[in-house]
Amino acid sequence: MKPAPFVHHAPRSVEEAVSVLAQVGHDGKILAGGQSLIPVLNMRLASPAHLVDINRVTGIDQVEVGDDAVRVGALVRHAELEYHEGAYAALPLLRQALVNVAHPAIRNRGTTVGSIAHADAAGEMPAILALTGGVVEATGPRGAREIAAVDFFQGPLETSLAEDELAVAVRFPRFAPGTATAFAESARRHGDYALAGVAAAVTVRDGVITDARSSFVSVTDVPSVLDLTDVVGGSEPGTADWAAAAEAVRAHVEPEADIHATADYRRMLAGELARRVLCQAAENAATTKGSSDR
Ligand SMILES: Cc1cc2nc3c(=O)[nH]c(=O)nc-3n(C[C@H](O)[C@H](O)[C@H](O)COP(=O)(O)OP(=O)(O)OC[C@H]3O[C@@H](n4cnc5c(N)ncnc54)[C@H](O)[C@@H]3O)c2cc1C
Repeated sequence: MKPAPFVHHAPRSVEEAVSVLAQVGHDGKILAGGQSLIPVLNMRLASPAHLVDINRVTGIDQVEVGDDAVRVGALVRHAELEYHEGAYAALPLLRQALVNVAHPAIRNRGTTVGSIAHADAAGEMPAILALTGGVVEATGPRGAREIAAVDFFQGPLETSLAEDELAVAVRFPRFAPGTATAFAESARRHGDYALAGVAAAVTVRDGVITDARSSFVSVTDVPSVLDLTDVVGGSEPGTADWAAAAEAVRAHVEPEADIHATADYRRMLAGELARRVLCQAAENAATTKGSSDR
């Protein structure tokens, strides 16, 4: 199918984009990489009268690696972030997750900020923003504001962005020294949305685990972080009770059944993937392999 007719707007600056968004109100939709929006328009699941295409907006296409965070502009494609060596050195978790986002053709066009704004709990990057305790930088007619990940994701495909606000960037904070990360997911075919996915960040100091967290793909309503420090904190990576951590994950997730998998299968997968990535992250933190130490 083809989309319903719409007016195409091509602002050149953030100010112009915000001004157009304010004019078109709830009849407008922002177009970034189009990898989620265009299929929705083609299937006529949405028929906005105006598309505010941000692809010509200047100043929002940079990856900036700072001492505290990796800042990703709204026009940075998944592939640019995936291959950005500075971003990888600062936060290996970004690339660990991005290689699982769809296929290269989609990563060449789709944006990381667009994926987060789309807020699909089956998307990898919303889970990564949650695990890093990241922030969305938004600008609208009422000015600029920063929204913490925990306040950003409100429900399935629902965020706290107002309809006249543009997400200009997201910031992924770097982890504390001694932290290593891992990501794994299971999909029916590589590049498909995951049946279940888990990201983990584990901090090891003086040989013992001081912090362990994970976040999830496709098995929770909204991206959420589970703090497992109570379960494995104080243990050495080699002897920590990873089975108990997996059990805590199975109790935390709330998967739904669909044509691809039952809820029980997804829950089992989430637990097993969590056991593997938590254990791997802890071992890497202990040996500093893959560590995101500064
Ligand atoms: C076949 C296929 C498989 C895919 N598989 C996966 C997968 O496995 N994992 C995964 O995570 N994703 C997957 N995707 C989606 C892909 O990652 C998209 O690129 C991403 O979800 C959206 O980014 P985009 O730039 O294309 O956004 P668009 O499609 O342009 O926009 C998506 C939504 O976000 C809004 N939006 C976009 N940018 C902004 C902004 N700066 N400020 C405010 N709102 C904004 C739009 O208005 C729209 O509502 C897949 C897509 C396809 C077509």
